[in-house]
Amino acid sequence: MRDNSPSTMASYAPPRFLTDLLHARSPSGYEGEAQAVFDQHVKPAADTYSGDALGNRIAVLNPKGDPTLMLAGHMDELGLLVTYVNKDGFVYFDTIGGHDRSVISGRRVVIKTANGTVKGVTGKRAIHLMDEADRKKVPEIHEIWIDIGARTKAEALERISIGDSATYDHEFELIHGSIGTARAFDNKVGAYVVGEALIRLSKEAKKPAARVVAVATSQEEIGCRGAATSGFSVDPQVSLVVDVGHATDHPDCDNRKYGETKLSGGPIICRGANINPLVFENLLKAAKRLKIPYQVESDPRPTGTDARAIQVGRGGVATGVVSIPLRYMHTPSEVVDLEDVERCVRLFVEFARGIKKGDYRNW
Ligand SMILES: [Zn+2]
Repeated sequence: MRDNSPSTMASYAPPRFLTDLLHARSPSGYEGEAQAVFDQHVKPAADTYSGDALGNRIAVLNPKGDPTLMLAGHMDELGLLVTYVNKDGFVYFDTIGGHDRSVISGRRVVIKTANGTVKGVTGKRAIHLMDEADRKKVPEIHEIWIDIGARTKAEALERISIGDSATYDHEFELIHGSIGTARAFDNKVGAYVVGEALIRLSKEAKKPAARVVAVATSQEEIGCRGAATSGFSVDPQVSLVVDVGHATDHPDCDNRKYGETKLSGGPIICRGANINPLVFENLLKAAKRLKIPYQVESDPRPTGTDARAIQVGRGGVATGVVSIPLRYMHTPSEVVDLEDVERCVRLFVEFARGIKKGDYRNW
């Protein structure tokens, strides 16, 4: 349980590997900074370590083990992509991933260029300059621009290029105790969970029976593309996917439509067609052995996670999905309880420990 005493709040120290990932800017297709963090922290613990053409990072522990358990968490995040610069030097963009258009303007952004970063702000017409009807509208993407302080197109294009990516300039911070905010908990927490689980398993005296493969996947936000290729190359029998899930415990969220899940309530274990029933059962058993709080949600469709791609790879994979409760998904200020992240790491380690040789034949 989370201790709310003031002394604990003051001393809560988030793990360095996680904060490094949260600071990394990694829109889909531009994951370089997150790859470098994963390389630095996870590679030393792995028996073999590789990348692929899609930008995945693949860490293998116990390469001769059986079955193969693939742990997947995506490391890409939402972003903006420079598409056009007008004659006055204002920069237009398309969105990478599913943005809420009502929160894009009025932000500070950082554009990553070949020559370093360029700062800017997302501008739109001020409220005073709108008529009554305009004030009620959510702006279209082409009605917002990035202002980098340039006066002409030529001046702007000396500093940035078409195809450069940008992210909000919102960094991670703790807001109360272990509850933090960041622009991209989705899904740096997942990449952290799979990497950290492999690191902890590597330190245990007893090797797991399974070949454990932790994959920081690329391009999830634009269609689970890194999971499709890494699922094929890793060739697992069993796979656990970790992503963020909606905590529905805030105002204006109808439980009749969206179910009941809570921030700080522990990892959310999913049930439904995307989930192998025995994987679900074993996740529940692992959570009970650990005596950690957990929550159950259900989804009748392929989930909106990497598991939708991994499950139907090759001849089929027994997949499970675990979500870390999060409020305000896909906004610049997502909120997560880092204690839920730690519980998820422990759940993945315990699940991996529980797998026996040949187990998957019944799954
Ligand atoms: Zn997302």
